[in-house]
Amino acid sequence: METKVLKINSAQIDKDLIQEAAEVIKKGGLVAFPTETVYGLGADAFNPDAVSKIFAAKERPFNDPLIVHVGDKQDLLKLSVEVYKITLDLVDAFWPGPLTLVLRKSAIVSSIVTSGLESIAVRMPDNPIALSLIKAAMTPIAAPSANLFGRPSPVTAEHVLEDLEGKINLILDGGKTQVGVESTILDLTQTPFRILRPGGVNLESLRTIITDIEPYQGDKILSPGMFKRHYSPKARVILVEENGKAQIDRVNAIASEFSRQGYGVGIMVKEENKDKYNGDFNIKILGQAKNLSGCAANLFTALRSFDKDGTQVIVAEGVKEEGLGAAIMDRLRKAAARDN
Ligand code: AMP
Ligand code: MG
Repeated sequence: METKVLKINSAQIDKDLIQEAAEVIKKGGLVAFPTETVYGLGADAFNPDAVSKIFAAKERPFNDPLIVHVGDKQDLLKLSVEVYKITLDLVDAFWPGPLTLVLRKSAIVSSIVTSGLESIAVRMPDNPIALSLIKAAMTPIAAPSANLFGRPSPVTAEHVLEDLEGKINLILDGGKTQVGVESTILDLTQTPFRILRPGGVNLESLRTIITDIEPYQGDKILSPGMFKRHYSPKARVILVEENGKAQIDRVNAIASEFSRQGYGVGIMVKEENKDKYNGDFNIKILGQAKNLSGCAANLFTALRSFDKDGTQVIVAEGVKEEGLGAAIMDRLRKAAARDN
């Protein structure tokens, strides 16, 4: 199959391009499109055959449920049978935006979307291209990230092509996504409500709406599809979590040792620290320590670009685990995990 790429400007959306992509969705095909977090790989959520193509293209296991994207807050009522006031409060505060809500599903949602669970994950993305596509397709769109299973998520159309060229019908190329890490997933089917994945909306902001939320516990597998290893480039990743001088010393020591052994070594560091390393390392800057949104936006591009350079071992500096830092550290720990 040839994968067609249509460039589209989010500030001035060409309706004909959206219509072309919507026709692909209506006919049961696959369209990759930008959201504010990462690129999604979309299919008609109410067409089980189309949804099964997502799993095939991504080589994703069927026990990893999908997030359904809606173009209108009201569509939530088609997908879930239990929408309480607290759900609507969260929707009003954070949609459109990077917050996915897990709710009890309605009978019309096929079990292929939810991997047989009685719950469904739903969000409304904050990107005009995504919203126009969903509205033009006249159906909610099931869309996981548009990468091969286990790889770093795509934040550009080029990343989507790297992984899925020839396997999907169309890519809407709307440039680089803003947030750079996936949505926060909040499970509302159990009390206290629980964060299943840290992401674009941080715990502090959620607590302005509901105080009783169980924070993310990265060491526990709380939902299907939360594997220990994920977001991994081909290169081995070693994450150094210390702070300050201890972190720099350890990154230097580990990187030097791999280099001595003959490996092609890369280091991913904060802007402030870049001059503190003097080995023969492939250096990529994650961003400034205090600008965690900048770090999140660069994260997957940096990981993927090491692979392009043929780097074999990446030694990565961790960041502070506050605000978006929780999502960044979750992705880095999973990228660095050695097994599932
Ligand atoms: P992604 O592949 O980045 O779109 O993320 C989808 C993730 O959302 C899955 O890997 C699951 O962990 C989570 N998820 C989706 N649906 C559900 C659900 N019904 N209950 C719990 N987690 C879910
Ligand atoms: Mg994903």
